[in-house]
Amino acid sequence: MSRGHLFVLSGPSGAGKGTLRKILFQQLGGLVYSISCTTREKRNEEIEGRDYFFVSYERFETMIKHGDFLEWANVHGNYYGTRRADVETSLELNCDIVLEIDVQGSRQIKAIMPEAVRIFITVDSLDSLEERLEDRGTETQEQLTRRLRNAAAEMKYARECEHIVLNDNLEIASEKLADIVKSYRNAG
Ligand code: ADP
Ligand code: 5GP
Repeated sequence: MSRGHLFVLSGPSGAGKGTLRKILFQQLGGLVYSISCTTREKRNEEIEGRDYFFVSYERFETMIKHGDFLEWANVHGNYYGTRRADVETSLELNCDIVLEIDVQGSRQIKAIMPEAVRIFITVDSLDSLEERLEDRGTETQEQLTRRLRNAAAEMKYARECEHIVLNDNLEIASEKLADIVKSYRNAG
């Protein structure tokens, strides 16, 4: 029986993963988004069960022990994890699923699911990242500095990925992302 495709979006904080993913879902049907669990505090505009499942450290650690996560990682000081059941069910139902996870998680997924298609979202410079994160205004100065400090190392992961999307111009980048997804669908 055919199985869905697994697309893994990664890239430094502020590169535009969330923005591009939302546009992709408006452009193409038949995609499922894997809603991660996190111990991070909810931002004002976020909705429980739409953006993340916000859980306590205790709950997260219990889920790790129960083997509920396909992958999990400590990212910028908080735990984030992908629920195993969501991914397995989607793929079995022949639905394409999109994960938006960090570099550590992307590596873990590729190791256990070699068919995963990793798409790295990047920007032309660290200065652009800083500007975008400042404009987004969702982090404290300390959190922002931490995210930028991690960005340089994260950017090196691009060369390991199957695809790189430079999100300089939003329209061009969103078209490229949709083309990548369509190319796998067309190939079967
Ligand atoms: P990520 O999910 O990778 O952390 P976001 O999607 O939240 O990044 O984008 C970070 C900020 O940059 C947001 O305020 C978003 O509106 C903005 N942004 C996204 N893409 C672009 C772009 N191509 N040009 C300028 N700003 C952008
Ligand atoms: P944010 O706090 O900005 O929502 O996300 C911070 C980082 O955590 C981003 O790089 C995001 O992609 C990553 N992330 C979100 N969910 C998961 C997940 O389930 N697993 C892993 N490993 N990283 C995640």
